[in-house]
Amino acid sequence: MFASRDHLDGRAGRVEVAFTDRHGGVSPSPYDSLDLGGARADRRDVGENFALLARELRVTGLVTMRQRHGNVVAFIGDDAADDVVPGAGPECDALVTDRPDTALCVRAGDCVPIALADAHQGVVAVAHAGRRGVVAGIIDATVTAMRGHGATSVTAWVGPHICAGCYEVPAALRSEVAVVAPAAFGCTTRGTPAVDIGAAVVAQLQAAGAQVVDRALCTLESPDLFSYRRDAARSGRTAGIVVLRRSGDG
Ligand SMILES: [Zn+2]
Repeated sequence: MFASRDHLDGRAGRVEVAFTDRHGGVSPSPYDSLDLGGARADRRDVGENFALLARELRVTGLVTMRQRHGNVVAFIGDDAADDVVPGAGPECDALVTDRPDTALCVRAGDCVPIALADAHQGVVAVAHAGRRGVVAGIIDATVTAMRGHGATSVTAWVGPHICAGCYEVPAALRSEVAVVAPAAFGCTTRGTPAVDIGAAVVAQLQAAGAQVVDRALCTLESPDLFSYRRDAARSGRTAGIVVLRRSGDG
């Protein structure tokens, strides 16, 4: 079920971070088996997968977003529901909350899922950063929003995504992205133009003052992960999750 799990203890409690893989769910082929995709939220198996994930993480529900490859950040306050139906949720590419025991969820299938936290100030976030999000400034917008809610020392976990070696793009597109994010200038394993989305995300996180924890794997190369580049419409989605446990919670 999980490609990686981490935790970080601070004065506000324990922050738990997880990135899923494709195993441990109920979806049939080709979405086997832990597909958490939003585009097919009407599929009952996706809802069951979310329920399985919530149980494993010991949360009542997960807050998802309708991701748009933009730079909009939504704050989840005390009045928000803590169990948003998969495929629903705010239209944005990052969620921020200071509410304990609220699991924030980002979905991806080659783009970069990021979990962020300040375990002392008790502020957590997730962000979805693909090529367009990096150009639009979603990383800086997310860290800025966290600081606006009291975060001072931000740690960011960078989850599985397509690597530069696999992410071939036209030369003009590589140049266009590199103007905004120089670290994105990459080459494939065959030496053709590529976007290094992971390097761009890490550079932008560091520029925003975050400490980076690398949990990257290549989605296209790993049979344990979903990849849109590899499988197109037959690709499911994995998720990145962050939750702040109140001090004293199990
Ligand atoms: Zn790769």
